[in-house]
Amino acid sequence: MLLETRALTASYGQFRALFGVDITVAAGECVAIIGANGAGKSTLMRSITGVIRNEPGMVLHRGEPIGALSSAEVMKRGIAMVPEGRKLFPSLTVEENLLIGGQMRKVPGPWNLDAVYELFPILRERRNNSGTALSGGQQQMVAIGRALMSNPELLLCDEISLGLAPVVIRDIYAALPKVRAGGAAIVVVEQDIGKALAVADRVYCMMEGRVTLTAKAADVSRQQIHAAYFGEA
Ligand code: ATP
Repeated sequence: MLLETRALTASYGQFRALFGVDITVAAGECVAIIGANGAGKSTLMRSITGVIRNEPGMVLHRGEPIGALSSAEVMKRGIAMVPEGRKLFPSLTVEENLLIGGQMRKVPGPWNLDAVYELFPILRERRNNSGTALSGGQQQMVAIGRALMSNPELLLCDEISLGLAPVVIRDIYAALPKVRAGGAAIVVVEQDIGKALAVADRVYCMMEGRVTLTAKAADVSRQQIHAAYFGEA
């Protein structure tokens, strides 16, 4: 298994946000994590990427415990994050933001500046603009491109459609199959259930820090999702 969490718990001080979360992601797979505000999706991403440190065995990469590693160490293993809110380096240009992603992990693979500009052609036009001078959608493309520059085995995308216009969301989601074609597995955290089901092989629904549904995206019914999402039978 490429990535696995085992009885993963996480807390903010006294507040428990995750109560024993088990998920798996196979190599090349696309998994969606859905759930309402506050369900624990971002906390799960932070726990996988080392922003929140855990007991080592709560997160496994290719069977090896990585739960206690730092974010930099996790990224070096090929797990890259597109964070909620994009978090570009404001004083750097688009191209510099992308190049930083490549500096974090230097391994051969399909992604480099040219490949990212082919994926999102508008970024080539804007390569010398500062990251923050871009539209929200373009900033999101830079954040995805920056993560891809490390040639990850696993790309974690936290709410990449949040606050963007439908036409921009469509363009961004259209890039994900190309990312998979490059060999990476993808986890998308998404509040838009339709988007999640359209792109993913499997879906996990979370509620109040627990997984309430695990299903193949092609098989799951709206009723099952509704029950898992809102806790109603
Ligand atoms: P959203 O869609 O709003 O990002 P989410 O499913 O990603 O929701 P989390 O952000 O993981 O949910 O939050 C899970 C719980 O942890 C929530 O109750 C939230 O209020 C709490 N929480 C999140 N971040 C912190 C923090 N830094 N300090 C304290 N509590 C937090």
